[in-house]
Amino acid sequence: MQVGVLALQGDWLAHGVMLTPLGVEVLPVRTAAALERADALVVPGGESTAMLRLMEPERLDDLIAERIRTGMPVLGICAGLILLASHVEPDQPSLGLLDVDVVRNAYGRQIHSTIVPIEVDDELGEPGSMEAVFIRAPRITRQGSDVKTLGRSGEEAVLVRQGRVVGATFHPELTSDGRVHRMFCELAEGGDG
Ligand code: GLN
Repeated sequence: MQVGVLALQGDWLAHGVMLTPLGVEVLPVRTAAALERADALVVPGGESTAMLRLMEPERLDDLIAERIRTGMPVLGICAGLILLASHVEPDQPSLGLLDVDVVRNAYGRQIHSTIVPIEVDDELGEPGSMEAVFIRAPRITRQGSDVKTLGRSGEEAVLVRQGRVVGATFHPELTSDGRVHRMFCELAEGGDG
């Protein structure tokens, strides 16, 4: 399986480090041709406004949306989750493929960058506590009934899944805990399920 990592901006390289030991082939995606070869896609953290601009020349936003609509699994991290969301505040374009509303930079300066334990669901293989790195994280303020919460920080959903679309407000690629990437690869390998 070839797992694409959108490599326009942000910390895309760190995902390769997490994915390679899981036995998948990692493919940096910067062009429509590379996207076509990917069986699944990670949209990394970074700056969602910058990524929107950088997707324009190859119309990668439309092409990614089309692939997701036709079943390609996707993992959106932080800025990646913002790009997938139904609605973003402050208002900016998004793909609308994950039925959540998000507020960007919602925790302000005090959670500019922090590591806190979150609680994860048994879909992660081993349920329980996980160290989660938040960097100018968005907050999920609404989630549709098809969106399952797989990770929580207190009352807040920080890891969600709607079918084969997974989103995290934290950065699983910045710790040595591989559970999110493993879960995503298993989901992607699981065919239509
Ligand atoms: N604040 C960034 C944005 O709005 C996301 C930060 C991140 O990806 N760590 O796009």
